[in-house]
Amino acid sequence: MYYGFDVGGTKIEFGAFNEKLERVATERVPTPGDDYDKLVDTLVSIIEKADKEFACEGYVGIGIPGIEDAENGTLLTSNIPAAMGRNLRKDLESRLGRSVAIDNDANCFALSEAWDEALQGEKSVLGLILGTGFGGGLVYDGQVFSGKNHVAGELGHTRMPIDGWFHLGENAPLFDCGCKNKGCIDNYLSGRGFEQLYTHYYGEQLKAIEIITRHAEGEPKAVEHVDRFMELLAICFANLFTGLDPHVVVLGGGLSNFELIYSEMPKRLPKHLLSVSRVPMIIKAKHGDAGGVRGAAFLNIKQ
Ligand SMILES: [Zn+2]
Repeated sequence: MYYGFDVGGTKIEFGAFNEKLERVATERVPTPGDDYDKLVDTLVSIIEKADKEFACEGYVGIGIPGIEDAENGTLLTSNIPAAMGRNLRKDLESRLGRSVAIDNDANCFALSEAWDEALQGEKSVLGLILGTGFGGGLVYDGQVFSGKNHVAGELGHTRMPIDGWFHLGENAPLFDCGCKNKGCIDNYLSGRGFEQLYTHYYGEQLKAIEIITRHAEGEPKAVEHVDRFMELLAICFANLFTGLDPHVVVLGGGLSNFELIYSEMPKRLPKHLLSVSRVPMIIKAKHGDAGGVRGAAFLNIKQ
């Protein structure tokens, strides 16, 4: 059995998957956000319960909104204050007497999609999340590639490419980022970025869904905004695709439901890519909110 946990700021979701990768158990509990011992106890008790139910010692994988320090194993996670600076993997391993895999939740999202039946023959899958922020994960040969420092896939904190900056025009906004840098694409390509770019150019605060509705109605400002955004997305995607050259790109997060992206990117991307590059298949994530748990569970599958 493969156990997966999606540990978020407010809730922990658990899923158990059998050898056929079918989900056979689900559980949701609140995250003990500021009590580390309680957090460890909660995870251990769910695992022990599942072990008993399935009469086995399941493989344990955990997805977190953060990064496990590659040298000392401590977690950098501002969304789960209780786990910040703690060595969750080591503490769970000593309680459970088995190895535990921990990875970033965006990497788990990418892994979940890469293990979807339809994509299993693909050499590499790049998952990109256009949610509150912009992030991603790269899966190569069915395994997460998390890099030397576990920051591979933190694409939101690469900076705006120069052609993107020119595209935004003389009045281009230089947004500050939570990572303390300026101009990280996290603040432009995310759902939040989509909204704050609109506010920057038109002085009005609208929700993404409202801008998209106005765009569908042909409202001129929304049409101009969406056109500018799609081109910016194509420029930034092309930059990432030139660096990573993925076979398939899967989009998740709220803004990935904007269908126009899937028809616009293939049209807009070629002029920003190298002439030998062909636009990869760009598709919407299939597993939605369940992706984090699935991917966490699959961290222990070796090809
Ligand atoms: Zn940043």
